[in-house]
Parts: sequence; C-alpha cells; structure tokens
Amino acid sequence: MGLNVIMMGPPGAGKGTQATRFALERGLVKISTGDILRDGVKELNPEALVAKAKMDRGELVDDVTMIAIVRQRLLRSDARHGFVLDGFPRTVPQARALDQIMEERRNGPLVIVDVCVPEDELVKRLAIRRICSKCGAGADPFGATHTCKVCGGPLVQRTDDNQDVVLKRLQIYHRSTEPVLEFYRTRPTFRTVNGAQAPDIVARELDVTIDQAANGSDV
Ligand code: AMP
Repeated sequence: MGLNVIMMGPPGAGKGTQATRFALERGLVKISTGDILRDGVKELNPEALVAKAKMDRGELVDDVTMIAIVRQRLLRSDARHGFVLDGFPRTVPQARALDQIMEERRNGPLVIVDVCVPEDELVKRLAIRRICSKCGAGADPFGATHTCKVCGGPLVQRTDDNQDVVLKRLQIYHRSTEPVLEFYRTRPTFRTVNGAQAPDIVARELDVTIDQAANGSDV
C-alpha cells in the first residue's frame, strides 16, 4: 500500500524542505511543481519558458498546463509507491483533477498537511531564502557558506523572492490556494502542523501526524 502526501502551506512555510526530508526518509518521490518548471526553464522547454513570465511576476501558471505536468509525472515508475507533492494543487480545479488521478491510481491514502506559519514570519523568511542555482536545493539562509551542500553550486535568491513579488504571491495564495484548504478540510486525512518552529521539530511532528492520518488512528 502506498502513501501519498500533499504538503500544503504558503510560500516560505518550509514545505519544500520538509517535503524533501519526509520523502527521503520514507523512500517516496518528492514532486515539486515549482522545481519542474524551473528545471524546464533551464532546459529551455518551450512550455516552461511561457510559464516563466508568470512565475517571475508571482502569478499562477494555468491549470491545464499544471495538471498535465503532474499527471505525466505521476505516471513515472518512481511514483508507483506514492509521492510527496510540494506546490500542487494550488487551485480548486487542480485539487479536483488530482482526486480524479487518485481515483485512477487506487494506491494508498491521500494525506493533506497544512504547514501553518504567520504572515510576518513568511515575509521575513522569503527575504533571506536562498536556493542552489545548479540543482535547485534549498539552503540554510544562516549557513556560513555560499555554496550548495548537495552539489557545490552557487547559492542565489529566487527571481520571485523579491519583496514586491513576495507580497503578490502571498495575495494569490490567499485568493487561489486557501480555497483548496477548505476543499480538503473536512476529509479525515486532513491535518495541520505548526510550521513556526525549528525545522527538526516540524519534521518530527509531520512524521507522527502523517502516520496517524494515513492509519486513521485518530479519525
Ligand atoms: P514554488 O516553487 O512552488 O513557489 O512555485 C514557483 C512558481 O511556479 C509559482 O509562483 C507559480 O508561478 C508556478 N507554479 C508552481 N506550481 C504551480 C501550480 N500548482 N499552479 C500554478 N502555478 C504553479
């Protein structure tokens, strides 16, 4: 039986870091739609280059494109036993499409976790966030080095992490993605975790919470 997790939360909540960590521990594939798009831009993929303008403005890429990307990605063999989704679904139509895909897969529960962080903390975190320009891995903003600890590549600020774009992304999050939380909230496999804690503590809470939700132990 597989395990499928959606890591929800606003930009800067740490969901990417936590999704990577959880996926690694459980032998699941982490699928970040933002990473797929950024990789596509580096590879000069025409679809991703069209999306880039929207990404740079902090706007959402259209549902048809995003659903097709995820549908295709989930067909790959590494997603056979489950996945951790980071950055998808971001709209209610995307969530409905994912339900349809899950119906076709019939492979384990779908656990939805919302990583909650207060807005002023998000703005602070996004201002100092750095990622590797080569492999896209997130980096410790307080770390002493300027190179990626995964591949040694140089660390940079994301083009959409400047202050104006950050505020727009948060606005779009409230408008388009919060309704997705309402879409999921009444499901027995929906959980919230306090993301305004040390990453190790968040990771531990996610570990316990996701297992409880998947096993239906406190439903
Ligand atoms: P992220 O790395 O998840 O913050 O995504 C970066 C940008 O990619 C977003 O601001 C959007 O422009 C685009 N993007 C990523 N995932 C989605 C999605 N599920 N729906 C629409 N746009 C997305």
